[in-house]
Amino acid sequence: MMFRASVLTLYPEMFPGALGLSLAGRALEAGTWALDVTQIRDFATDRHRTVDDTPAGGGAGMVMRADILARAIDQVSTPDDPRPRLLMSPRGRPLTQARVRDLAAGAGIVIICGRFEGVDQRVIEARNLEEVSVGDYILSGGEPAALVLLDAVVRLLPGVMGNSESGLHESFEHGLLEHPHYTRPQEFEGRSIPEILTSGNHARIAAWRREQAEKLTRERRPDLLEPGQ
Ligand code: SAH
Repeated sequence: MMFRASVLTLYPEMFPGALGLSLAGRALEAGTWALDVTQIRDFATDRHRTVDDTPAGGGAGMVMRADILARAIDQVSTPDDPRPRLLMSPRGRPLTQARVRDLAAGAGIVIICGRFEGVDQRVIEARNLEEVSVGDYILSGGEPAALVLLDAVVRLLPGVMGNSESGLHESFEHGLLEHPHYTRPQEFEGRSIPEILTSGNHARIAAWRREQAEKLTRERRPDLLEPGQ
């Protein structure tokens, strides 16, 4: 079954963007996944094709209207669509590799890209949108966040990564950051490759990598070592 991504955005030109190249681009061409992009503005009803309005209660900025966004969602995703509907949002639960794996195992994703101050709360509730964040910082729109999410998911689809083994050792897959990498030349500006890596002793190499991963994780991301992570 093909993985189907539907993106709703005010900037359809941003897609497939970076996902049209390299691994994701080849997989898109090969039909491993499909992408359809919907212009939310096509569902506006007035002459100016307005999609936003001033915030109820006052304040700066504009808010995306619930009725227009709901119409766009309903055209792309019927009630029996098994795909989760994700709203890219800094208020969402931060994206994790575990969630990315879950998504890659499913039928696809419907992704809504916000703009302005965000979207009317009522459409989030009425269309059961799950808010997902790509980090604790503010982007100007949900599109780059959608590209990040799709990139992370598509590379895990069967057949997309050349060496499917390589996905299993990466940062986060074992709750640790990955060990450092080295390749030729043997000597670079007076720095050598750690001797153990050229020893040919695979058990010792594995132990060294594990130690390095643990040390890096303790130093940089002690939060990953806390129970419950
Ligand atoms: N006023 C909002 C930020 C709006 S940014 C707030 O303070 O929470 C405009 C749009 O960019 C959002 O609707 C969302 O779709 C997207 N966006 C911004 N930062 C994001 C992040 N960290 N993760 C995912 N989407 C983000």
